[in-house]
Amino acid sequence: MDQPKDRFGRGVNYIRVSVTKRCNLRCAYCMPMDGSLVRPRGDMLAIDQIIRLISLFAPFGVRKVRLTGGEPLLRKGIFGLIRGLKRISGIGEVTMTTNGVLLEKNIPRLRDAGLDRINISLDSLKAGRVRAISGHDIHEPVMRAIRRVAEERIWPVKINVVAIRGFNDDEILDFTQLAFDLPVEVRFIEMMPTAHNRLFAGRRGIAAGEIERIVRERHDLRPATSPLTGGPAEVYDIAGGAGRIGFVAPLSRHFCGSCNRLRLTAEGALRSCLFNDGEVDLRRGFLEGAPDQWFVDRFKESLQVKPKGHGLSAASSAPCEKPMAAIGG
Ligand code: SAM
Ligand code: SF4
Repeated sequence: MDQPKDRFGRGVNYIRVSVTKRCNLRCAYCMPMDGSLVRPRGDMLAIDQIIRLISLFAPFGVRKVRLTGGEPLLRKGIFGLIRGLKRISGIGEVTMTTNGVLLEKNIPRLRDAGLDRINISLDSLKAGRVRAISGHDIHEPVMRAIRRVAEERIWPVKINVVAIRGFNDDEILDFTQLAFDLPVEVRFIEMMPTAHNRLFAGRRGIAAGEIERIVRERHDLRPATSPLTGGPAEVYDIAGGAGRIGFVAPLSRHFCGSCNRLRLTAEGALRSCLFNDGEVDLRRGFLEGAPDQWFVDRFKESLQVKPKGHGLSAASSAPCEKPMAAIGG
């Protein structure tokens, strides 16, 4: 089947699915401290509804699904979801972004279900700082999971580090060293202005160029010979190292021109841009018993409303009404 294109010639081959808004952490740039985001819980798509949607979209070019949240490992039925998605013809990759807290004990079930790769978020290598930013004492289990997945080469692993001035800007070389020592891709991410971001107003984001300069003073970086996947990160091999370094710069070097993704929110809306609150509601179709074609039409509609770019800058205040945990990051 022909791959439909949006108004700017971009097709969609990648869907990020937020499987829950709930989270066991309260990262300062993502969630309100009081947990008000997840109460009342709101209606979420059921596992079989997510599988049905992806199987309807796959013939139109969707190849890769990333499960995110909230914390995807809190979602009941997550292993069945992975298994169901892996069975869909055309879906080449099912991946997950997790905070890693519950990862280690779930490795066998995730592996059996067929997960292809994993991103683990960790903003500091110091236990006290991790507690300060996330509200919980989770440094040790997350580090253990990272080491195990990397050392046993269970999955290719990326480590997401949100760069925050006055918090982890003195750990850039420590994170680089981690990527030197272990076969992981450490990705420094520019902090984005989303709802409930308690840090953005303080202008604590750091541009990727600044981080890159610090890394290059110590290390020789070469464009990665075999980046883990195509995507928004600019990825480099570290001369002599086991892993890689990446920079995800949605603000200073935005990549909207090559954006190939849609997002499915936990409540069942298709969102064509992280920073555009215009959403196409799919849950209504489930409530009304809509036929497959109705969902396919909504998929095409969401491509047609996909904006050219997010129009953000490092100085803008939160233009996104929803928190990252609801959209899936
Ligand atoms: N709970 C999982 C986790 O933390 O990996 C998955 C969901 S989380 C919303 C997905 C990613 O978005 C994480 O790597 C997180 O650091 C990132 N993120 C959340 N809020 C952000 C913000 N305001 N700017 C940049 N990245 C953000
Ligand atoms: Fe939870 Fe992930 Fe948001 Fe942190 S970034 S509060 S772990 S959803």
